[in-house]
Amino acid sequence: MGAIILDGKSMAQDIRKELKSRVQSLTDEHGLRPGLAVLMAGDDPASKIYVKNKIKACEDLHIYSEMHALPHDVPQADILILIRELNARENIDGILVQLPLPRHLPFAEITQTINPEKDVDGLHPFTLGKLLLGQETFLPCTPMGILEILRRSDTRISGKEAVIIGRSSIVGKPLALLLLREDATVTICHSKTENISSVSRRADILVVAAGRPGMVTADYIKEGAVVIDVGINRVDGKVVGDVNSHEAGKKASAITPVPGGVGPLTIAMLMQNTVRSAEMRLVRQAVITHLHLEGG
Ligand code: NAD
Repeated sequence: MGAIILDGKSMAQDIRKELKSRVQSLTDEHGLRPGLAVLMAGDDPASKIYVKNKIKACEDLHIYSEMHALPHDVPQADILILIRELNARENIDGILVQLPLPRHLPFAEITQTINPEKDVDGLHPFTLGKLLLGQETFLPCTPMGILEILRRSDTRISGKEAVIIGRSSIVGKPLALLLLREDATVTICHSKTENISSVSRRADILVVAAGRPGMVTADYIKEGAVVIDVGINRVDGKVVGDVNSHEAGKKASAITPVPGGVGPLTIAMLMQNTVRSAEMRLVRQAVITHLHLEGG
């Protein structure tokens, strides 16, 4: 029997419908329009496509967006000043810095400059620290999107073995924390793991985020596993994942396609975080108004 294809595109559409009404309520009832600022340094072709898709998603939801296209050699000081300006701007609820950054720009310092209240990409150390401690916070978009796919496909997580291939700070590590929070037993594999296929074959839920096209073959997969392919690789002008979907489809019970799997959910989660940030702005405004009234 072939695997069920977990259609990320249609799940993302459903989420967008849910978000549309939240945006409408913010704008119509409270005169508050959510706003997202996207910063991109350089002209990496893949980044340009991702940024375009994010801006388009904002337009579809009537979220205000602004794009800051910076030259490849933008001085670090300029980008930090811009982020501080955006931190102070009332109409900006979310700030996203598109990765990868040009080599001279330090990822740590740049993400740390974003106000955690506007960290809709969920990559600030404060945000990740709260995730580690199980506290309420923005969640990084790709791991959050993966969790959403599992939830919307009724995949049981609690008590199950989850194996993640890849330990990056934007996918593998935060996802491990999220799955742990959902009571999975979690293992992370990486480039130094020995005999990965023997580890991944234990997985009820296998998530692959290594950036190695077609790396995961039938041999890596337990019969009936749910396989989430995060990889986005360009091979001979085509976009392919990290999983050999033809082989995996014969063993897995369900699998995400590439493209059309995790990617659309990542963008939907960015929109969700931006809307949530705007809703929190509304709460902050209400508290300030209340204090003013109390103070006479
Ligand atoms: P990264 O390069 O930062 O990390 C890759 C990880 O994979 C590392 O931890 C490394 O140890 C591990 N790895 C590499 N080769 C391996 C191998 N042969 N065996 C086992 N582990 C190996 O990458 P990233 O930013 O986490 O992205 C991973 C992939 O996911 C890329 O293809 C990227 O384009 C894609 N991605 C997709 C989305 C999306 O929205 N769908 C979002 C982020 C990243």
